Amino acid sequence: MRSFEAGSATVRILDDGVFVTDAGNLFGGQKKAKIKGSMRPVLVEAGDNLVLLDAGFGPELPEILVGRYELRREEDLMDHLEEAGYGAEDVTHVVLSHLDADHVGWALEPPSFPNASVFVQRAALEEAKGMPEGDGRREAVPAVGRGLEEGWCELLEGDGEVVPGIRVEVRSGHSEGHQVVWIGSGEDAALYTADLAPAKIWLDPDLIAGVDTDPEAARRNRIEVLTEAEEKDAPVILYHEPKDPVVRVRRGEDGKFEAEPV
Ligand SMILES: [Zn+2]
Repeated sequence: MRSFEAGSATVRILDDGVFVTDAGNLFGGQKKAKIKGSMRPVLVEAGDNLVLLDAGFGPELPEILVGRYELRREEDLMDHLEEAGYGAEDVTHVVLSHLDADHVGWALEPPSFPNASVFVQRAALEEAKGMPEGDGRREAVPAVGRGLEEGWCELLEGDGEVVPGIRVEVRSGHSEGHQVVWIGSGEDAALYTADLAPAKIWLDPDLIAGVDTDPEAARRNRIEVLTEAEEKDAPVILYHEPKDPVVRVRRGEDGKFEAEPV
């Protein structure tokens, strides 16, 4: 299991398996080529808090995605959490970058983390509510709504510190209210980009996913956030990257960011 320090926090990269789907499902159009991605939720020990960033697909592939996505795994997020020396009850906070099915699974009902508060941006919830029936993002809405009533879910309104050393920043484009996470502080920070730049291919600012809600915002935010990571020499954690999910980035003359494995 990969782990490193960022400020006074310890960061561990967990794993919830690999999805396989037609490229058309991510880029739009009829592309039949298969595309693969990992799910790598991030566990951060920050003082007395144990914070999980995103929550994989959950116990099984959600019903609405059966036939479109295939989920391959021998071990899941809970197994990896245990390998890290923790049980589900030890998690104190779960930060959801946005409400897509591959990021929220284990945080929904029944909540797998009985002692955790789950944090979502209000804008992400509002957008998901407006999605058509059967959309992967829309499916999370009822559970989040109940979570609000039952007290395991909290809505955020913009940027801020969730716990000391863990700061969310709204960087929309992939979805409204999509948040990235800075771990640590100042010059000793790491960046979790979530789906703003989820794998190495997405370090090219001009690559736009058909599923991005606002492609121009995605492009602008990707450049701004990765430029800041380069300036801080911060490790960048890539949620869907099958190999080398932790990289440092350098912007090349062609405008694309290049990845060096950490
Ligand atoms: Zn994703």
